[in-house]
Amino acid sequence: MHFKIFNMAKWRLLLILVFIGFLPQLNAQNYPQNYFRYPLDSLPSLVSPFGGLRDNHFHSGMDLRTNQREGLPVFASADGYVSRIKIQSIGYGKAIYLDHPNGYTTVYGHLQKYSGKIAEWIQNYQYKNQTFEFDYVFEKPILLVKKGDTIGLSGNSGGSSGPHVHFEIRNTKSEKIINPALFGIIPFDTLNPIIKNVFVYNFVPDGLLLKQELKINHQTIIQTKIPGYFICKKALELPAEMYGFGIEAYDYIHNSIDEKGIYEYDITQNGKYIFKHTLNQFAFDESKYINAHIDYPFYKASKIRIQKCFVDDGNEFSTYQTNALKGKILVTKNLRDTLLFTVTDFNYNSFVVLVPIVGVAGKIDKEKQDYLKSIKGKKAFYPLKKNTIKTKDFLFELDSKSVYDTVFYDFGSLKPIQEPALSTIYKVFNPTSSLHKAANIAIKPFSVYLEYQNKLLLAYYLKDRKDFRSAGGNFENGFVRGKASNFGHYFVTMDTIAPTIKQVFINTEEALGDSLHFYFEIKDNFSGIGKYEGYLNGEWILLDFDAKSNMLTYHFDKIWYNLVAQNKDSKLKNTAIIKPEVLIRVTDKKGNVAEKTFTMPIAFE
Ligand SMILES: [Zn+2]
Repeated sequence: MHFKIFNMAKWRLLLILVFIGFLPQLNAQNYPQNYFRYPLDSLPSLVSPFGGLRDNHFHSGMDLRTNQREGLPVFASADGYVSRIKIQSIGYGKAIYLDHPNGYTTVYGHLQKYSGKIAEWIQNYQYKNQTFEFDYVFEKPILLVKKGDTIGLSGNSGGSSGPHVHFEIRNTKSEKIINPALFGIIPFDTLNPIIKNVFVYNFVPDGLLLKQELKINHQTIIQTKIPGYFICKKALELPAEMYGFGIEAYDYIHNSIDEKGIYEYDITQNGKYIFKHTLNQFAFDESKYINAHIDYPFYKASKIRIQKCFVDDGNEFSTYQTNALKGKILVTKNLRDTLLFTVTDFNYNSFVVLVPIVGVAGKIDKEKQDYLKSIKGKKAFYPLKKNTIKTKDFLFELDSKSVYDTVFYDFGSLKPIQEPALSTIYKVFNPTSSLHKAANIAIKPFSVYLEYQNKLLLAYYLKDRKDFRSAGGNFENGFVRGKASNFGHYFVTMDTIAPTIKQVFINTEEALGDSLHFYFEIKDNFSGIGKYEGYLNGEWILLDFDAKSNMLTYHFDKIWYNLVAQNKDSKLKNTAIIKPEVLIRVTDKKGNVAEKTFTMPIAFE
């Protein structure tokens, strides 16, 4: 495709007209300002903003910088009470939720430990229920906090990839997660976002064909008198057809190196909005719409996230405002229009580029024709409806929210080529689509001895089809039933191998019995860790589990110190010492149990 030189003076005039009235409009006036304090003892500084673009989700909070350190005090953002405690070996790790009288909830994740009476309450709960991980919702206020109270110490627990505090503000009733910046929690930032590329798409029944790329650089744009406002040197010439646009854009925050989500971006056509996306708030279960928000196949291939400026039929993410064509643009022959692309961050820093478009006569698009030929006769899943594949030995069921667009797929069955496959291998495949909601999947295994039926589960192949992973599931009524979170190759297999347990010494003092913890590494080969428990001379002990490091930790508590005291006493009285023995029992998700007893060193002064 070509660009046409056009009359610059005319476009400049239009540019000025179009710019008037399009300064970013932030919605902070609806939210209390200065009510919530920054929960750390520093100025706001982010490693990752609200709504950052991540694998399979939008970041649902702000990640607050702790300078690669753990153990910084985390303060209650406002007066309120503890409304929920959730401890997981993955996800937010050690998290705490506070409800505030103004109708909002604050959430603090990846803590190293909790403080004061909160910590006491938690330890009691854990010993009473003999569990490290739990999710407890308080029916009434028991643990009250004042703004600025220390509720815990910052850490790196759960699925965190480095020390930081994950911070959220939610609407207590709707549980929608709101951009904390709307409450005034805004880091210092004078850097403009940028648009690096503009992409032009047209449409085929199951998605997009990338038609053109407009690189935004010194060769293609001119700076106008207004800082951050640019105008494209040449008009974009488009054959008459329906188009959609996408942008590769980045926001920069001082000192931040993370995923750089854009707070807001929009397109106007001759001054009228046709698409606008604003990250003010969204529901937790919407965050997977990231895969419809970006050009997913392009991301899969290049790791570059192009944010689309139009909305797929199955994309119900609530952050968009669009024209009747859902952000698409119908280009007709002789059309002379102005598109204005604007990206804006929370500090009113923006980048605006005006792209004139010129419609020309439509032409035969060879690529599109070839594509249409390639999908002819293929089976498809459709958005906003239930889709099912059912045979005598196989079921694959998608609910109405599973796909964003029509998905043509290959379906087939393969003979098991590998020892562990205990069924036919079923292929439900589309290389470029993702599932918003996991499919129900059921596969009939070959005949299996009764005593092994509870060891059966589903597996899927990785890309090269050499290696495979567990997809979980259970044997029920002749089928192994489970969930498929992606398209792929699925089959039944079996897990009969128990996890492994070993003691780990992180520092030399531990080996001498003079430390504050014992560490154990636990691993499972296939179905994953299901349950873990520890006993000190028969008494249940609390073990922290960190799934990312496979590490169980026993932090010495009163059970240990009691034993030590008892032994000191025995020594004085010259009676028998009770050797501390720690029994660790780990069960995988298929009920394979490993058990090991360790005799612990004990130090007396
Ligand atoms: Zn986070």
